[in-house]
Amino acid sequence: MSFIQLENLTKYFNGSADPAVASLNLTIQKGEIITLLGPSGCGKTTTLRMIAGFEHPNKGTIHIDGKEVYNEAQSLPPEKRGIGMVFQDYALFPHMTIMKNVMFGLGKWSARDKKQRAKEVLELVGLEGYANRYPTQLSGGQQQRVALARALAPKPHVVLMDEPFSNLDAGLREKMRFDVTNILRKANTTAIIVTHDQKDAFAVSDRVVVMKDGIIQQIASPREMYRCP
Ligand code: ADP
Ligand code: ADP
Repeated sequence: MSFIQLENLTKYFNGSADPAVASLNLTIQKGEIITLLGPSGCGKTTTLRMIAGFEHPNKGTIHIDGKEVYNEAQSLPPEKRGIGMVFQDYALFPHMTIMKNVMFGLGKWSARDKKQRAKEVLELVGLEGYANRYPTQLSGGQQQRVALARALAPKPHVVLMDEPFSNLDAGLREKMRFDVTNILRKANTTAIIVTHDQKDAFAVSDRVVVMKDGIIQQIASPREMYRCP
């Protein structure tokens, strides 16, 4: 059993004759960084949301860390799946300090452990000096690193990122590809990243999953893909 296993995942939205995602099979190893790459509407976000538990497949099973978190008879809620989400707009709480934002993800940990862990992940993302600031006092790149720190804090099995680079201007985008990859590697985390940008996919991932019309067209490492005619 692979670390993450999607079997035969199929999703029809109400009123649509064509599936948004069709019989999708994918296995992911522990520590791998995977991107789902493809044009708008090809089913990337729906796949991510099914893994997270925000959307229920019509068919198929999902295993995370060897545990069946979804089958047609039962579904584990998002907060019990061991996932960390980074949203495109970061979704930081503007009225909370950076420290509080990161601690928020730790739910019922003790106050002392929360603080300790928040300090650890802020150091991991290179923002240890920013604990007492507020999100609006940080640059876009820094805010994204806070969002990543918050996602990593509870030591999730997998981090899910939806279009993490598409709000960033060209220069910052290149830097953040590098920073995000470094942070995920240092944290030794498995990650699934959705992007429509081939450069993003090639820069950050071990394997690229190319999607079109709800199906997987190709799975290959960036190196293998460069060799394609
Ligand atoms: P991508 O992330 O690759 O842009 P999505 O997964 O968002 O693609 O969408 C896949 C298909 O499912 C599209 O045709 C989209 O319009 C449709 N879709 C996505 N979400 C919904 C929804 N909540 N209700 C109905 N159709 C949806
Ligand atoms: P993305 O940028 O990931 O492709 P979209 O902008 O297409 O996302 O969609 C934003 C939100 O709207 C998502 O939550 C998606 O599930 C939902 N959505 C997308 N397409 C449809 C649709 N045809 N009908 C209803 N909701 C949709």
